[in-house]
Amino acid sequence: MKALIVDDAKVVRVALGRIMNQLGFETVDAADGQQALDQMAAHPDVDVVMLDWNMPVMNGYDFLVALRAMPEHGSNPKVIMVTTETGMPQMLKALAAGADEYVMKPFDKDMIFGKLQLVGLECSE
Ligand SMILES: [Mg+2]
Repeated sequence: MKALIVDDAKVVRVALGRIMNQLGFETVDAADGQQALDQMAAHPDVDVVMLDWNMPVMNGYDFLVALRAMPEHGSNPKVIMVTTETGMPQMLKALAAGADEYVMKPFDKDMIFGKLQLVGLECSE
């Protein structure tokens, strides 16, 4: 399985990438929403996007809207928001735009594993 990790902070991309690798995912990453769209074009087989909200160039919300509007990616991949934007209005807005789950920063491996299970992605702990 393949995960796209999207975050403007390299330290987060590295930490999350390590966790996803441990859970059996191949990973590709992006530092903003525009790069993430490019990665989706290059890797249409991505199973899950781990998505930050606050990023320069294109934020995670705008990426999510663009992703779900792409006919070839409309129903998949799963999208898990990984963000400090955890107010209820923000969460509802992201879920309405097609996010599948929400992880609050700071995260750990158990939290990530639990959310992957919730969205139906089989992975090994
Ligand atoms: Mg950020």
